[in-house]
Amino acid sequence: MESALAKQVYDKLLSVYGPQKCFLEHMTPFQLLVATILSAQCTDKRVNMVTRDLFKRWPDAEAFANCGREELEQAIFTCGFYRAKADHILKASKAIVEQFHGELPGTMEGLLELPGVGRKTANVVLGDALGQPGFPVDTHVRRLAGLIGLSASSDPEVIESDVCSVMPPETWAQFSHLLIVHGRTRCPANRPDCPGCELARLCRHTKAVQSAGKQSAPKKTVRASAKKTSKPVAKKKVTNKAASTGRTAKKTTSKSGTGS
Ligand code: SF4
Repeated sequence: MESALAKQVYDKLLSVYGPQKCFLEHMTPFQLLVATILSAQCTDKRVNMVTRDLFKRWPDAEAFANCGREELEQAIFTCGFYRAKADHILKASKAIVEQFHGELPGTMEGLLELPGVGRKTANVVLGDALGQPGFPVDTHVRRLAGLIGLSASSDPEVIESDVCSVMPPETWAQFSHLLIVHGRTRCPANRPDCPGCELARLCRHTKAVQSAGKQSAPKKTVRASAKKTSKPVAKKKVTNKAASTGRTAKKTTSKSGTGS
């Protein structure tokens, strides 16, 4: 991927939306880890509603490690997949308490050792809570990276590597936020607003659509002009000929009848 494209896309999105913050409310890196686990297949808005009470009841890893499974499942029920999510939260909390003395590991390798934590979650925590470079590839980032041309792959790990190899580490977390907000507002799945999009000049998808349009443009023009001129001409002919010769008028009438 050309680094120029990624840089231009980043600059444009930053100028449009301004600097973006983490969408998930949290007070500590551990709370962000829990919120990110809950955000799988769930909206950030819903997660924030749930975690406001959740973190009052269980503020840290030790509290979660000692809470009842059923109680936790009930508390996070509305986030969906509550059994699996409760399982991941409980196991990760116990691992943090038992293996990391209650502190969240501060590296990608350490975070990936925690049960239920994948690269996306680890990157969120690194970039938004631990002040380290992190480029989370969620569903929006994955889709937009393909459409815009930031990566030719649909594999999140390859996308992460493609983008991170051409962008400075200090921009990674912000770039992910900007792509997410653009995916939510201008380029949602199945209904991207390409005509109104600020990235239209840069986006590979738009270029591909424009190029396909140009190739078929002559046919469209011909059809459009034939349509425009055929009606008035036909009417004129019928009127003129019908007025001058009965034979022509008959022919026209019969044609018109067949067609209807
Ligand atoms: S030009 Fe269209 S496809 Fe490309 S980012 Fe904008 S809305 Fe999405």
